[in-house]
Amino acid sequence: MKTHKQAKKELTDRITALEDLIKFTRENTYYEKFCLHCSSVMQVKLNGERAQEKKYCNDACRSSFHRKRNQKAVAYFLKKKKKKNDS
Ligand SMILES: [Zn+2]
Repeated sequence: MKTHKQAKKELTDRITALEDLIKFTRENTYYEKFCLHCSSVMQVKLNGERAQEKKYCNDACRSSFHRKRNQKAVAYFLKKKKKKNDS
């Protein structure tokens, strides 16, 4: 025979299990978008903190993107300087 106490414990256990499932589902729902640098598909968590701002697949890719951009800027600056000196 099931007692009141047992029924209450069963209810609490089931609710705890469901709460864990909800938490897991929230943490593991993601969408996919392209990395701005290497165009590989990356997974962005829907509810992650600052996840929406994610632009690059990893830190190496981000620094590589900025290094290349800086190199381009320096090359442009040098070209401009050379032109000025030539004229
Ligand atoms: Zn990348």
